[in-house]
Amino acid sequence: MKYLEEFQNPELARGLLEDIRATVTRPWAVMEVCGGQTHTIIRHGIDQLLPDGIELIHGPGCPVCVTPLEVIDKAMEIAGRPGVIFCSFGDMLRVPGTDRDLFRVRGEGGDVRVVYSPLDALRIARENPQREVVFFGIGFETTAPPNAMTVHQARKQGITNFSMLVSHVLVPPAIEAIMTSPDCRVQGFLAAGHVCSVMGTEEYPQLAERHRVPIVVTGFEPLDILEGIRRTVRQLERGEHTVENAYQRAVRPEGNPAARAMLADVFEVTDRAWRGIGVIPRSGWRLSERYREYDAEHRFDVTGITTRESGLCRSGEVLQGLIKPNQCEAFGTTCTPRNPLGATMVSSEGACAAYYLYRRLAAPSAPSALEVSSVG
Ligand code: SF4
Repeated sequence: MKYLEEFQNPELARGLLEDIRATVTRPWAVMEVCGGQTHTIIRHGIDQLLPDGIELIHGPGCPVCVTPLEVIDKAMEIAGRPGVIFCSFGDMLRVPGTDRDLFRVRGEGGDVRVVYSPLDALRIARENPQREVVFFGIGFETTAPPNAMTVHQARKQGITNFSMLVSHVLVPPAIEAIMTSPDCRVQGFLAAGHVCSVMGTEEYPQLAERHRVPIVVTGFEPLDILEGIRRTVRQLERGEHTVENAYQRAVRPEGNPAARAMLADVFEVTDRAWRGIGVIPRSGWRLSERYREYDAEHRFDVTGITTRESGLCRSGEVLQGLIKPNQCEAFGTTCTPRNPLGATMVSSEGACAAYYLYRRLAAPSAPSALEVSSVG
């Protein structure tokens, strides 16, 4: 399959690994920002194939994982109301709130529906004019354009029984927060290619310069990741800190102008709480004043919610790269994908789910189990 198989070629992977080994002279810590990159790394054992001393730190780029607990609780509060049809992507249904999840709300009689596009929710609103239809709009810059377009279409089509519970988050402010944290160990970044395919790369040179950190935009296949690591390590060894685009088949410096125009019309930047991390200034989007009537938080009174996180879950530390998932005492015992204590064990992009799915159950010092031939 074009653009997949050629980026999983074991021979090319061996070449990149040899190049990395020949380049490295000392330890480096590199963060892959996106949960999709984390899954590729763990699935193919890329971290175990790297030379000793090259550590991959898993970043906070899992949209389901960082959606704040308060927003999850608000979703359940709205979804349980009579007359509401609450629409969401499937993986949000199992994310634990303070005392239940959306599956439980559905079991208790709430009309909670899984959809595959926000436009499905808009269609449901059109077909059910007597009901209030709410779509759960979460995610990074990647999922925001279709959500923005859906709200734009709702207004254009005069559909007034549709609203969106919005909790969008942005990557560059998260990188800023990571680099200014007193616990930061990150020396280089693999930036998320799909985010840059929407937003472009214009925001990254300032970050690279301010924090003297190389940033390499990568894709999600094994060779994409290895090439990103190769370029990052090469910069680190040379004392450089520039932005490189290693995902040119999808990313242009200006991103996608049509998507950016739609985002600028529908959303405005706001401070946003990240689950397990806290509030990051100007790190999210909410519906702009022009579209406030489509904001579910504006339409439904969901103030006064009191949240309580699991005392066992260390997903905040996982999301900040401070621990690996299998260093959490609950990992694989009281917390599994069937009985998740935290969102990082639920999401298809969550680091805890990746470690569990690909049987990375042992302590971080476990010996390498995979060979280069496992790539692909
Ligand atoms: S293993 Fe479970 S309890 Fe531990 S950090 Fe991950 S989601 Fe939280």
